[in-house]
Order: sequence, then C-alpha cells, then structure tokens
Amino acid sequence: MSYDVAIVGAGPAGSVAAFRLASAGTRVLLLDKATFPRDKPCGGGVTGRAARLLPFSIEPVVEDVADRMDCGLRYGQRITRQARAPLAYMTQRKRLDHFLLQRAAEAGAEVREGVAADARELDARIVIGADGCNGSSAKQLGLAEGIVHGVALEANYPWEERFAGGMLLEIAVIHGGYGWVFPKGDHVNVGVGGNQAEGPRLRAELRRMCKAWGIDPDAAAETRGYRLPMRLPGTALARGCTAVIGDAAGLVDPFSGDGMYEAFYSAKLVSEAALDVLAGRAEDLSPYQTAVENRIAPLTRAGWGAKRAFERFPRTTYALARLPITFRALEKLLTGDLPEPGAARGVERAAIRAIYKVAKLAS
Ligand SMILES: Cc1cc2nc3c(=O)[nH]c(=O)nc-3n(C[C@H](O)[C@H](O)[C@H](O)COP(=O)(O)OP(=O)(O)OC[C@H]3O[C@@H](n4cnc5c(N)ncnc54)[C@H](O)[C@@H]3O)c2cc1C
Repeated sequence: MSYDVAIVGAGPAGSVAAFRLASAGTRVLLLDKATFPRDKPCGGGVTGRAARLLPFSIEPVVEDVADRMDCGLRYGQRITRQARAPLAYMTQRKRLDHFLLQRAAEAGAEVREGVAADARELDARIVIGADGCNGSSAKQLGLAEGIVHGVALEANYPWEERFAGGMLLEIAVIHGGYGWVFPKGDHVNVGVGGNQAEGPRLRAELRRMCKAWGIDPDAAAETRGYRLPMRLPGTALARGCTAVIGDAAGLVDPFSGDGMYEAFYSAKLVSEAALDVLAGRAEDLSPYQTAVENRIAPLTRAGWGAKRAFERFPRTTYALARLPITFRALEKLLTGDLPEPGAARGVERAAIRAIYKVAKLAS
C-alpha cells in the first residue's frame, strides 16, 4: 500500500483529520477536487467549543469574535445577552479552509488539489470520506444512508459597525430553522435556513430578514444556497477500514445548523480509531462509530429536540430560552464547557429540562 490513510475531501473535517494523522507519523494522502483557496457556502462561525477541539489556533484567519448574542423571535421580541467568553470566532471559509489545508500539508500530509477521487479506488490501508454533503464517498463506501437534509440561503452585505462582536439569530422565521447575521472583517454574512420543504421560501425570507434588521436587501452579493445534512440515529458511519466524517457523515446539528464542531470532532475520533488500527490495537474502524454514538450523538439528539420544540411551540420555547439561566447553559454549550445539554447541573439543568419537556410534548 502506498499510503496508510487516504482522505477524500479537504474541508474542515478532511484537513483536520489529515493534520492529526500526519502529525502522528502516518503516511496520509489528502485529495480535493477543488483548488484552494476555494469558498464554501457557510456562515463561517467557528463556535468556541469547535475552536477548542483544534490542535492549533485559527487566530490568523479570525475576522471578528462574537461574545454577544442578539436574539429575536419571528421579527418580534428581541433580547441581547453578553457572554463571559467568546461564543464564536467569525471566519470566511475561503480563508479558513485554505489555512487548515496548509496546516495538514505542513504536518506532512501529501495534498493533491484538483483531483476528483473515487473512494473505492485509493491505494491506502484506511479510506476516509470527508467530501461533504454533495460528495459521493458515502455512497461508494455503502455508508451514511440515513441522512435527511435541511436547506440554507446566504449572502454578503456591506459591513456595519453595529453588528461587530455579535452573533445575531432570528429564531423560527423558517420552519425548522432561523436567520442569522454574522460579522466579518469587511462585510456581514446574512442567511436563513431550515427544513428542506422551506427551499422555495428562502429567497423571500432572506429579504425579510434583511429588512427586519435594517440591511438593504438589494445590496446582496454572492447569494448562495446549499444543503445541511443531518444524520438519523443509528446510521452506519464505518465499515472495515473505511469511514465517513463531517458533512459526508451527516453530522450537522439539526437545530443550530452548525457542522464545523462535528467536523473537527469526527476528525479527531476517526484519527484515534485509525491510529489504533495502524498500530495493531484494533482490527477495524468500528470504535469510531461507537465514539460518535457516545460523544456526538447526545448533542444531535438534543438538537432534534430543540428543533421540534421551536417548530411546534416557538413562543413557549423562546420564553424558556431567553431566561438568563438558560443563556448561561447555552453559553457553556457554545464555549465547550458543557459537552451536551443533558450534562447541565443545578438551576441550568432545570431550565434545560423544561425545554426537553416542551420537546417531548412536540414529538
Ligand atoms: C449556508 C450555511 C451556513 C453554515 N454556517 C455554519 C456556521 O456558521 N458554523 C458552522 O459550524 N457550520 C456552518 N454550516 C455547516 C458547515 O458549512 C459544514 O458542516 C462544514 O462545511 C462541513 O465540513 P466538511 O469538511 O465535512 O465538508 P465541506 O466543507 O463540504 O468540504 C468537503 C470537501 O470535499 C471536496 N470534495 C467533494 N467531492 C470530492 C471528490 N469526489 N474528490 C475530492 N474532493 C471532493 C469539496 O471540494 C470540499 O472541499 C453552514 C452550512 C451552510 C450550508
């Protein structure tokens, strides 16, 4: 075999897995059909918990740091909450992904750009599919068959000082989702996303979102739509010495639509499992599947619950979510101090349990 590990796709999931594996001394091939720097439709918000998972700092590509959350419900009630630590680091995917790819190459991964790979034809002991939600590796490897999709539409608008340092969310404007305004260095990114059936409404809702927050909808540049892949419980992510990670595994959070935390986490978990196989401590990558079930699936379950609660009972759920004590729990989730909502303690636990109860009523 020419390589220990071949990775298809050099987005956040693939590049971070390549960095981890190459740093551990394995022979890694990282392939991407695009030539970098390339863009990817995304809010580019790297949550505090996602940044904490990385083995290096992304500071060189951070354009703003959000430690404030402005949150509205269906263009009506609005609240602002100040966090004690950064909730999200605002990046542009064109720069972030190129930066991650360079870290992988520096660590020793062999990078090939402009190559559309077939996961069945790679000369490596271990093959990892990290080619995102439109990739073919999951199908080629017979994995990740239980995935449902959400949809999102985003565009860039002129920069405005008032959005700096904040993460603005407008809840329940789309069935199963929300709108956002994320500040970048020289523009703001505005988007709306939710259930797949909402696709035809997205364009009008993006304009409405802009108007509600005093942004000129006609100033939109680079308007783009994309899918959000969400894994159903039990979906197979590993077989033999093959596995899928990140969006290829459908690991986007069903409520927040975030996927970079899960991309970085699944990259870490698959790297650990791959190193065990290469060292003869494990026969296959099945421990990766178990690790996803134990470490990522509880958060995904909570995401489905929050999504249902906001869909069916938006006012009640928002009333609970806006309580200062609930925000403290949310803040800990976003910064990574809390691994999943079920792990909350004390009064924060009581607030989370109230949302769980609404989610249960909604199911
Ligand atoms: C509108 C929108 C906004 C979002 N906002 C956020 C946000 O603010 N924060 C957040 O955390 N998440 C957000 N997400 C989710 C996030 O973008 C994804 O979860 C994330 O990109 C997943 O990374 P990935 O590496 O798995 O896949 P991708 O980033 O999709 O990378 C896959 C790579 O595989 C390559 N590829 C595909 N096919 C092949 C092939 N055959 N051979 C070789 N290479 C191939 C592609 O060129 C690409 O580079 C958003 C998503 C959308 C749609």
